[in-house]
Formats: sequence, structure tokens, C-alpha cells
Amino acid sequence: MINLILFGPPGSGKGTQAAKLVEKYNLLHISTGDLFRYEMGNNTPLGLEAKSYINKGELVPDSVTIGMLRNKVEANPDVAGYIFDGFPRTIPQSEALDKLMAEMDQKISKLIMLDVEDVEIVTRLLERGKTSGRKDDADEGVIRNRIDVYKDNTFPVYDFYAQSGTSVKVDGMGSIEEIFDRLCAQIDAIK
Ligand code: ADP
Repeated sequence: MINLILFGPPGSGKGTQAAKLVEKYNLLHISTGDLFRYEMGNNTPLGLEAKSYINKGELVPDSVTIGMLRNKVEANPDVAGYIFDGFPRTIPQSEALDKLMAEMDQKISKLIMLDVEDVEIVTRLLERGKTSGRKDDADEGVIRNRIDVYKDNTFPVYDFYAQSGTSVKVDGMGSIEEIFDRLCAQIDAIK
């Protein structure tokens, strides 16, 4: 199996690239952001809880997020591998993911970070906010909070996987195709 973590700040293009990678490598794309938006759209108890954090640009509590992720993985065991997008976003989530993989006799093959500058992120998210209908894209204060949360809580996940030599960075600036080619080179290099 190939089990990827697609990593990077909000607006770094993870969702866009994941959609292309899924087609090429036939992996299951699991985006915790998409899962939360699905729950919010259906006004489920999980969605209502998540909404109060997401609309402020805060992280949903680990216990909620990890449980949701685990359900999704366990419901789809017979796949060629997973692309985790937007997860893990904290160290406890990373530990929970490694535990889940180990239970399946699997491990994370690579964490690939899309490296994008802050100014570019704010521009992209405000632009996306014009059409995405996402409350968390519409307000510059919320966007800045998401970037701060990324730096404080999420970036340490890169170092966590770097300890085992699992983390790599690719340049996330350029055209969608150029970035896709960089990602494919990293995936093709997995032995
Ligand atoms: P982006 O990466 O563009 O900010 P996502 O769709 O990945 O957007 O996530 C949107 C929001 O959903 C996050 O700001 C956060 O509130 C919540 N969320 C998504 N994934 C997680 C996670 N792994 N842990 C906690 N909260 C999460």
C-alpha cells in the first residue's frame, strides 16, 4: 500500500492535488475538512459540534477528529492506499494515525509538504471564498487565525515524521501541473 499524508498550510492546494493523485494512483482520498463539511451540511450532531470551531478557524478537538477519521479508514480497508489530506493536524492525531496504521500492518509511506508563502495563501483563500461558500474563507481574520493555528499546532507534525525520515517538502508555487509533477516524482520514488 501507499499511504500518503498531503501536508501544508490552508490553501496550499492539497485538495486540488489530491483529486489528481487519486486518479493516477487509485488511492482513497480522505479529507477531514470535506468530512466535516459533509456533516455540517447534514446538520448532524458531529457537524454541529465541528461548526463552532471551524467557523472561527480553530481546530476541532482531537477526540472528535480522530474518531471520525478512524471510522472512515475502517470502513474502507480494501484499497490500494490512502491520501490523508488535512489530517494529522496535531501531534496526538499523528500518534493516533500511526497506531491505526500499525493495527492494519501498515505505515505512512511519506508525508509530502506543499511549501507556499503566507501572502500567497491569504490571496488564494480570499479568492476561493468568493465562490466556495465557506465561512472560514470569507473573513481575513479567520484566515489569519488558521495560518497561526497551522504554525503553532500543525507544523510540528512535519518534524514528527521527519524523525523517521518520512517528511519531504515540495515547492507549492507554480502551475497545478508543475506541482503535480513534483508530487508524482516523490511518490514514484517510494520503494
Ligand atoms: P484548509 O486546509 O483549506 O484550511 P480544510 O478543509 O482541510 O481546509 O479544513 C477546514 C477546517 O476543518 C479547519 O480549519 C479545521 O477547523 C477543521 N479541520 C479539518 N481537519 C482537521 C483536523 N485534522 N483536526 C482538527 N480540525 C480539523
